[in-house]
Amino acid sequence: MTDRDHLFADAAARARRYLSTVDKRRVAPDAEAQDNLKRFDEALPEQTTDAAETIALLDDAGSAATVASAGSRYFGFVTGGTLPAALAAGVLGLAWDQNSALPVMSPVAAKLHRVTRSWLVELLGLPTTTEIAFVSGATMANATALTAARDDQLAKAGWDVQADGLFGAPPLTVVVGEQAHSTLGKALGLIGLGRQRVITVPADDQGRMLADRLPDLRGPLIVCAQAGEVNTGAFDPFPTIVDWARERDAWVHVDGAFGLWAAADPALWPLTGGLGTADSWATDAHKWLNVSYDSGIAFVRDPVALRRSFASVAGYLPPDNAYEAMHHTPQSSQRARQLEVWAVLRSLGRAGVARLVHRSCELARRMADRLAAGGLTVLNDVVLNQVMVRADAALIAAVQRDGTCWCGPTTWHGETAMRISVSGWATDESDVDESAAAILRCASYNRAGD
Ligand SMILES: *Cc1c(COP(=O)(O)O)cnc(C)c1O
Repeated sequence: MTDRDHLFADAAARARRYLSTVDKRRVAPDAEAQDNLKRFDEALPEQTTDAAETIALLDDAGSAATVASAGSRYFGFVTGGTLPAALAAGVLGLAWDQNSALPVMSPVAAKLHRVTRSWLVELLGLPTTTEIAFVSGATMANATALTAARDDQLAKAGWDVQADGLFGAPPLTVVVGEQAHSTLGKALGLIGLGRQRVITVPADDQGRMLADRLPDLRGPLIVCAQAGEVNTGAFDPFPTIVDWARERDAWVHVDGAFGLWAAADPALWPLTGGLGTADSWATDAHKWLNVSYDSGIAFVRDPVALRRSFASVAGYLPPDNAYEAMHHTPQSSQRARQLEVWAVLRSLGRAGVARLVHRSCELARRMADRLAAGGLTVLNDVVLNQVMVRADAALIAAVQRDGTCWCGPTTWHGETAMRISVSGWATDESDVDESAAAILRCASYNRAGD
């Protein structure tokens, strides 16, 4: 075997060992593992050394100090794991080292973009014209789609943002729900629309936009709706929001970082009704679809709008035959994120994606039932994969210290709460039961210690 073959075989063995033991250890690394990170405090080596020894250090000092989000009892943020099909496709893709910027740089990446685009559009019930852009995550997917929205709305007002910028442009109004995700503001700030230069529509107790409170406005206008409030999982009432927007020629954007995948599960169609009538959508593949980081997707109904904003040459016309990623995304050079998405869609199929979503929701309800039966207060209607329980900082810290599972804090209507997101493909009933038992044990110690 060559050195390279040895190195790969060693790395693959280490990766297998990691994944086969990740569920047997604490979800959050212990103090010893964190302390061991000081082994990385080295001076920049002057001389070349054996790469195998470097990989050994990475594993020996690094693996134990990871958070076990690849395992089955990580419920923090909205963090999925990585499906084996995604991981394997990702490994092959790394070996390929493709730059997916242009078809001439990677015919396979361009082809799989086309295939994945049409599968996603069909799976999620989006308009058939919809073009997609692979970006680093939902924050960038929001920024990408909102850039297309901004430029389209201002083009209709006679202003070319790409040529002339925003100084002196006609004013453009952005409307958001009260419970819009914090990173939506970051995206708006990034593209020059301002984090706070927005009109905020109040939300109900589950975080849904109160669409009858949308203001009567005219002119260039974007409304940002949400599919999946990050604490409750609630969906905005899309039909009413879209009707309001259509009367005003406004652009409707939906942040569906995890919630967009609900459209793949027929049982959730009551939630997702009207979702497909918006103009753009943002989602993550690295959350609920369970591919590796960093993988987000922007969807724009009108492909011309995406090209207007991102073509890197003026007056760019699309080629007839293949998708040119660098003319549809903020990036130029880029990795082929579609490989993992394609591999997951192809191996799970429509039924498998629906099952992934459906099961997470069932497990979230199971978690909520267990915790409620044990005396904790569930603060949300568990309509999706998110559960929020009343908890003070001491309880959350105790759960994290216990290490059986990991859940993070949030604030809901002014009080601290603990958020549990079931998004990983590997989680099953026994993980939920074990984790619920651990949380209840922490809660009873806490009460005893009061
Ligand atoms: C996670 C999330 C985001 C941000 O996604 P990143 O992938 O972290 O950039 C935006 N909106 C919602 C609703 C989210 O849950």
